[in-house]
Amino acid sequence: MISHTDQSAVTVLGLGPMGRALAGAFLDAGLRTTVWNRTPGKDRELVERGAAGARSPEEAVAASRLVVVCVVNQDAGDAIMRHGPVTDALKERTVVNLTADTPDRARDTATWAAEHGIEYLDGAIMTPATTIGTPAAVFLHSGASELYRRHRPVLDALGGTHTHLGEDIGRAAAYDIALLDVFWTAMAGYAHAIALARAEGVTARELAPFAKGIGTILPAIFERGAEEVDSGRFSGEDNPITSAVSSMAHIVHTSEAHGIDAGVMRAAEGLARRAIGRGHGTDGFLRITEILNPDAPGRPVATL
Ligand code: NDP
Repeated sequence: MISHTDQSAVTVLGLGPMGRALAGAFLDAGLRTTVWNRTPGKDRELVERGAAGARSPEEAVAASRLVVVCVVNQDAGDAIMRHGPVTDALKERTVVNLTADTPDRARDTATWAAEHGIEYLDGAIMTPATTIGTPAAVFLHSGASELYRRHRPVLDALGGTHTHLGEDIGRAAAYDIALLDVFWTAMAGYAHAIALARAEGVTARELAPFAKGIGTILPAIFERGAEEVDSGRFSGEDNPITSAVSSMAHIVHTSEAHGIDAGVMRAAEGLARRAIGRGHGTDGFLRITEILNPDAPGRPVATL
């Protein structure tokens, strides 16, 4: 039986690309690292580098007071943790769950953990596995501040920046979902743009430098847009919705003329037209946030 109970030991459950990167960073930092994965064999390289390979998740959990879980989703996390011997072994240990899922699932897992005497922090990783252990890694955490402070020295071994978002356990997942919304909508836009360009005889490689240019103008727009949303004042001085909707209609028209599905752009155009229909044509595009969720907490009064 492996058994390390001090602060220099950590267990990682789940050895996909991310779990392996996390375990590798813990090893590089000199922590006694115990690993387990459902499918055997994925721990080989880590064991060669000094990790202890556990034969079962309960053995892995018994080895360290801090257990990092990183699997495909919370169904997989539940399949591992909500299993009699593993649940028993987790009692009075801390789980840092870096598995991506929804805020509701984080809250549900926290309730389950509390019922079983397990300390629980939820987290999200916002950068690829290749960044782990480097300054580029970005981690978000939520849950009890005291618990976070206690385990922060071990989490720091993962490199990058760690931000504690507060005691609401669903907060890290909420940021994760919102940020992945930015990412996947942008990726859907990029895939669609490439299809459109190719239909016009432009290769993806030819488009790429200019697509990157679009990417570089977004940070300032995000920054200014956040102020607009929080203040409820949407300046359309530089680009009113009436102008934005016209360029969206061109994209829809050209796509459909080439037989390319324009569903995503049609949805965006539809929201913009609703904002215009409500008399906000001279406002900026982010006015549509108030159509998407008119009852959002913190929304300024009387802006619609
Ligand atoms: P995956 O998302 O593909 O997850 C693979 C891991 O999940 C493996 O350990 C796999 O075990 C395990 N798993 C799947 N189903 C089950 C199950 N029913 N029971 C037990 N274990 C199961 O790979 P990653 O490691 O890349 O991702 C892990 C998490 O990290 C995900 O939530 C992902 O969103 C997040 N993440 C990943 C990033 C990346 O760059 N890879 C970036 C940011 C976040 P087995 O080998 O047995 O199939």
